[in-house]
Amino acid sequence: MVKETILKKYENRAVFWRTAEIQNQCTILCNQLSTTNYLKEPISEVLNTELSQLSNIYDGRVMVINEEYHIVKDTFGIEAGKTIISPDVIACFSGIGTSHYDGESRYIEITTPIVEKINGKNHVKGVVLVSVSTDIIHETLNELSGKANLLFAMMMLIVAVGGTFLANLMVKPLEEISHTIDDIAEGYDSDNLHVDAYTETKRISEAFNKMRNRMQVLDDSRQEFVSNVSHELKTPLTSMKVLADSLLAQEDVPAELYKEFLGDIAEEIERENNIINDLLSLVKMDRTSSDLNVKSENINELIERNLKRLRPIAALRNIELVYESFRPVMAEVDEVKLSLAISNLVENAIKYNKENGWVHVSLNADHKYFYVKVADSGVGIPQEALDHIFERFYRVDKSHSKEISGTGLGLAIARNAIITHRGAIKVHSEEGEGTTFTVRVPLNYIS
Ligand code: ADP
Repeated sequence: MVKETILKKYENRAVFWRTAEIQNQCTILCNQLSTTNYLKEPISEVLNTELSQLSNIYDGRVMVINEEYHIVKDTFGIEAGKTIISPDVIACFSGIGTSHYDGESRYIEITTPIVEKINGKNHVKGVVLVSVSTDIIHETLNELSGKANLLFAMMMLIVAVGGTFLANLMVKPLEEISHTIDDIAEGYDSDNLHVDAYTETKRISEAFNKMRNRMQVLDDSRQEFVSNVSHELKTPLTSMKVLADSLLAQEDVPAELYKEFLGDIAEEIERENNIINDLLSLVKMDRTSSDLNVKSENINELIERNLKRLRPIAALRNIELVYESFRPVMAEVDEVKLSLAISNLVENAIKYNKENGWVHVSLNADHKYFYVKVADSGVGIPQEALDHIFERFYRVDKSHSKEISGTGLGLAIARNAIITHRGAIKVHSEEGEGTTFTVRVPLNYIS
């Protein structure tokens, strides 16, 4: 298509220049014909030679026509003496030369008037008609067309080879990424991707590595959780088995020993029960927040209900449990889950306290959130443990925690409950001084 357009342009230009050249020659010739008496007596040697030269140079035919449309000179010597009445010749007698190109038959026909000035007026007394062949232009065109075809073929080859090369270059990193994804999908461990062939693959690699690392973290924490759960569930069972076995191994065991061992077994059953209950709460909490049963609740009443339940436990160790509310608060919360969080915090504040200590619970709110603060005068949490206390099964001092029962799940449950309410939980603690947990929950539930 492009090739045809270019060739057509060349042809038009070549025809235009050839026409202009011949028209020039004809104008000079017509001036000479006009000044001599050639139209009456076409015998001038000089002019005949010029006419033949014109005919030879342009590989064409020149005819000189007089006012009676008689051909007075034909360089081919065929039509001399005959009459010619063609539209071009008639048009030319009106004083304006014509030219037309016939691409099919490959010739240009040009007419030029032979003008004489009579009384200052132009009078056309004859016409020079020139037909020249454009074979030479077409030969050049054919040659150019052949070269263009060759060039086109070469370009196609370069595009095909270059295209394949580029495609391979671009597909290779993607193949590498795809292989690594397949490896991971099939469960094989694979290294980080290092594909940064071009910006896009670099971005894909980075996003992929991020996702892979996240998956790794999730997988690790899942494995750790499963091994922690099985360990925690097995410990009370092992103790029970040891206690039962030692009773069975002895004969005539005194009734007091039976009682004591059975008491220990009952304690272990209680521990196992607590762990299972906590695990179930955690699993329930882990589901999506759409499981939340959100209702508008009076938070003051909710806290007071929980504290009422815990007061007897605090009283056992003479711990003062004080509640302070700065304003009435209504908020959209899941009563069961928020209660679980608050009672876990207050229970801990009592558990990890000293005899005759205190626990202060306060409630405040602004236009967006309500805040619950649980402060105690207890043993405090070492600085290095603060980052871990919300992890499942984490207990600060393992030896110390033997005396104080617990599963290490309470704070994980509390944190989950607060997070599902789109809230936040913070802790501040000084060892030996006490601990303060602050909970912030939006007044209006954000789904
Ligand atoms: P646990 O069942 O052991 O109480 P938690 O998840 O509730 O498990 O708490 C994790 C650990 O954080 C506890 O073992 C305890 O060492 C520490 N802890 C939690 N609350 C307090 C507190 N108010 N004062 C001191 N230590 C605390």
